[in-house]
Amino acid sequence: MRMRKTAAVGVAVLALAATATACGGKSGSAGDKSAATEVYSHDYTPAKGVKLNSQVLKDAQKRGKITIGVKADQPFLGFQDVSTKKYSGFDIEIAKMVAADLGFSTKQIDFKTVDSSSREAFISDHKVDLYVGTYTINNERKKQVGFAGPYYTAGADLLVRKGDKSITGPESLQGKTVCSIKGSTPLQEIKRPKYGAKTLELLKYSDCVEKVLDRTADALTTDDAILKGYAAERPGKLRLVNKPFTKEPYGVGLDKNDKVLREAITKALENHIKNGDYEKAYNGTLGKSGSKYVAPQLPLPTY
Ligand code: GLU
Repeated sequence: MRMRKTAAVGVAVLALAATATACGGKSGSAGDKSAATEVYSHDYTPAKGVKLNSQVLKDAQKRGKITIGVKADQPFLGFQDVSTKKYSGFDIEIAKMVAADLGFSTKQIDFKTVDSSSREAFISDHKVDLYVGTYTINNERKKQVGFAGPYYTAGADLLVRKGDKSITGPESLQGKTVCSIKGSTPLQEIKRPKYGAKTLELLKYSDCVEKVLDRTADALTTDDAILKGYAAERPGKLRLVNKPFTKEPYGVGLDKNDKVLREAITKALENHIKNGDYEKAYNGTLGKSGSKYVAPQLPLPTY
């Protein structure tokens, strides 16, 4: 890991080979080109004197820090470098943009790794102030948490071994073993009887990647945005099926009752979409794994 820093912009070099070591205990196999990929990282100017009638914000202001739950094993989205402990990716940039508009610099963010199955508990128990990690907005979750956004829409897809031509889409999963993550929407979807798939349910997507590679599972299902990162990491071994079968609008998770904070975050997202920060961040992170940039429609729809 090398770091180059100018006053405001840091460009982190993310050695993708490190992902497998960090998450599965294995490194990329011979023949796989795990080329180091530059991931964009920017520090946004924090707003001054932010006053909102939000208890979560007031508590964070008192601490001088904002705690944001993120993912650590999703290249180009939410990824933690094992050696430097630094986080990078599109969701990390979104978190920094939002924090800045709430008055917090990058240094004042405490990033906390929280897996999919623990998100609602961490938000409602106030172990995190916000959550930014491929978090789909839906009605079931809205019974427990609030959402600002959406800032991006992904779709559930399938990642398979490169040589396996038998899986061509969700309709070809009869009798196959599909790995996914507890507490995730793609797992819920793939459990529907119409697919006829067996499931392997783990805690981390990166562990599912290993299960597909060692043939314990035939496919991994989750959002295409996440799968593209894993496919880019092992181009000789893994293939994205590229037939998205759900819509996954990503929101920033927060306290269910904090309407003021929710509106402020949606406004922050809109500001950074308008001023070009969002597009730059997208192209420097997610865009590198092959997800084309689509400008979000403004104003963002309310959920
Ligand atoms: N977006 C989906 C979800 O929120 C899958 C990705 C994830 O587990 O974070 O469940």
